[in-house]
Amino acid sequence: MAATAAQEYRQFIGGEWVGAADGSTFEDHDPYTSEVVATVAAGGGEDARRAIEAAAGAFPAWSATPPAERQRIFLDAADALERRRDEVVDLLARETGCGFGFGMFQMGFVPGLLRQAAALAYAPIGTVIPSDMGAFSLGLRKPVGVVGAIAPWNAALILSARAIAAPLALGNTVVLKPSEWSPVVGGLIWGEIFTEAGLPAGVLNIVTHAPGAAGPIGDELVAHAAVRRLNFTGSTNTGRRLAEAAGRHLKRIVLELGGYNPLIVLADADLDYAVDASTFGAFLHQGQICMSARRILVERPIADEFVERLAVKTRTLKVGNPKEPDTIIGPLINEDALATVKARVEDAVAKGARVLAGGEAVGPCYRATLLADVPDDAELAQVETFGPVVAVEVVDSAEEAIARANATSYGLSSGILTTDLDRGLALAQQLDAGIVHVNDQPVGDEPQMPFGGVKDSGFGRFGGQAVIDEFTELRWITVQSGSHPFPF
Ligand code: ADP
Repeated sequence: MAATAAQEYRQFIGGEWVGAADGSTFEDHDPYTSEVVATVAAGGGEDARRAIEAAAGAFPAWSATPPAERQRIFLDAADALERRRDEVVDLLARETGCGFGFGMFQMGFVPGLLRQAAALAYAPIGTVIPSDMGAFSLGLRKPVGVVGAIAPWNAALILSARAIAAPLALGNTVVLKPSEWSPVVGGLIWGEIFTEAGLPAGVLNIVTHAPGAAGPIGDELVAHAAVRRLNFTGSTNTGRRLAEAAGRHLKRIVLELGGYNPLIVLADADLDYAVDASTFGAFLHQGQICMSARRILVERPIADEFVERLAVKTRTLKVGNPKEPDTIIGPLINEDALATVKARVEDAVAKGARVLAGGEAVGPCYRATLLADVPDDAELAQVETFGPVVAVEVVDSAEEAIARANATSYGLSSGILTTDLDRGLALAQQLDAGIVHVNDQPVGDEPQMPFGGVKDSGFGRFGGQAVIDEFTELRWITVQSGSHPFPF
């Protein structure tokens, strides 16, 4: 176990729990109480190098490990995680301010993700390709080598699991860099779980760092020749910088970035359902989900009644301690996040937006907030605001809703609420988004689905069959039986 009675966590490199190369540590705080949850190694570039070298050293044996053994390890890891369910849900609350409902969702999702990853050990099936040259011609998928995985804090358990599971199951070795805001439940916990499941030393390595000190580790992951692929989940700004650097080093990267996700409510939608779906889609985990509904585009005939009922429901959402099971709106992850939400709402209001519900901070939390008349030039209308704020806009037609929804640089998730499913499906195809849910809100995921965005929301896909392409190399091999003539 990495944890001691004093809640000290070291990094996980080459199967060992080790301190930072320079011995420094940082304090990991509970965003609601500000208590110290853990003291964690504050690693840097040298730690990343050691981790990459450990991963490179473990690659030949791991990539040659029979799929049955890789599969067993993933099935055992799923069981090991499930045995720790209550502890992990509590840690999600203490480290990331995650409420009970979303904590239980993560604990339901991730064992399934690990069990599906177990099947990936057998998934890279090759092809025999007809050759005009008389050769026996094969398309073979091979693991790529070391994969660098950079994960965020918001759905810490799911998004760190997703960053490592498919790459490992497909025979790669991994260096995981969790967020500085969730180093344990979004990172080091995987060292404990996979050690218990029997993963060989060096196959998974985890490097942690102090707030704001990701740069040197990220630089090393991008530049080191042994790292062959990267995956990143986080903000569009950081993802863009990483993609630029990865481009210089000609490295493929899967990027899952921010979203400005629309929920379209058509005039024929069921009103009760629309109000419930909107509230859930906008405010689950206090709106700190890349898929959260950021804007609701409602058709004029039902707009007044819908907005009135949504405002009433929004005001009832309990704000406060995420460890109390009926709390819906817990704390934002840190003071900077709270300051950003406050500033964006104030800017929108100064430019003419109306506050229909919420609009104020309560300690480290921000009330569920419903805005109307947010002008297009407000920052809130242009960039993802990671908090419990949603803007409602009235539209005159489904076509106008689609046009407005598409008029952003993002394209992650979306929803269209209608009882006319044929029309919903037709409209879904006109939305510029990686994910569209007809008659549902934008927040949803299953491990086997192709998850990812378009435009500034990123590229590449986690989940489903797509990950096989992301984390294996397709090679062409021929066998020429006998000899054939050459022109000279
Ligand atoms: P957020 O603001 O929501 O934390 P970020 O994009 O900053 O979003 O964080 C997502 C992940 O990116 C975290 O693991 C964070 O530490 C990491 N990160 C931030 N800056 C860099 C960087 N320069 N290089 C690599 N990773 C980074």
